[in-house]
Amino acid sequence: MKLLVLLLVLLAGVWLWKRGRRLSQKAPPPRGERAALPMVRCQQCGMHVPGHEAVAGRLGSYCSAEHRRDGEGA
Ligand SMILES: [Zn+2]
Repeated sequence: MKLLVLLLVLLAGVWLWKRGRRLSQKAPPPRGERAALPMVRCQQCGMHVPGHEAVAGRLGSYCSAEHRRDGEGA
């Protein structure tokens, strides 16, 4: 009989521990979602390049200064 009581106490302890863990996990850690890089399409060759590497032109964005020159004829 003593063993049964001990087992019940043990189960209660595990239950409380699990419940506490679940409550403490209420705020899930932020996923590794990094901000998606804005990709822009080169008006000349159609290649997609990251926004910070793109060359801005009058008619749009380009992958390189050469393509901006080719595309805009400047
Ligand atoms: Zn290009």
